[in-house]
Amino acid sequence: MLKVLFVPLNRNYVFDYIDDWKNIVADSLSRAGLSSEILIWPSTIKPSMKCFNWARKQYLAPCIIENMGNMFYDYLNEYFIVGIGYIDGYDYGLNFVFGEASPINRIAVVFTRRLDPRFYGEEPNYNLYLERVAKEIVHELGHLLGLSHCKRRTCVMSFSNSVYEVDAKTRFFCETCSNTLRKLNV
Ligand SMILES: [Zn+2]
Ligand SMILES: [Zn+2]
Repeated sequence: MLKVLFVPLNRNYVFDYIDDWKNIVADSLSRAGLSSEILIWPSTIKPSMKCFNWARKQYLAPCIIENMGNMFYDYLNEYFIVGIGYIDGYDYGLNFVFGEASPINRIAVVFTRRLDPRFYGEEPNYNLYLERVAKEIVHELGHLLGLSHCKRRTCVMSFSNSVYEVDAKTRFFCETCSNTLRKLNV
């Protein structure tokens, strides 16, 4: 049984969706043959402002992961932790990241702002945003479980550099990635 803890990093555009993300992500995992138990942390954990770059107006992903590692130290043996925030994130050498995973720490973070059509001046779209974020959560969980990027464009483990690429992939692991997951004894 795979145990996962979702941690909201803020309330807006996260709280209204998080129960759906839980169900969708559990479905993606179960289609790969993994049974999971996903818990939702009941309050928001605001990332440290030390991780915020004022010039870029973005959070540094590894800093948030380290931050969460300290806060959730007692849970790390039991749970894989995924922070989810309607914020923008980056890493060194990259303009932005949709998410980042640290398998050693068993922690991942998903930044949802750039997955919202409104970020691009488009109309709000509940289902599109829901689906895009779900894909990125499944993707980062895949990394936490030991998967690398996959060349199949429809596989959830395919690397996405833009929302177009996020939209082009599905929220499911391909057959090869599913087989690998089942062998990783999670
Ligand atoms: Zn990735
Ligand atoms: Zn794959």
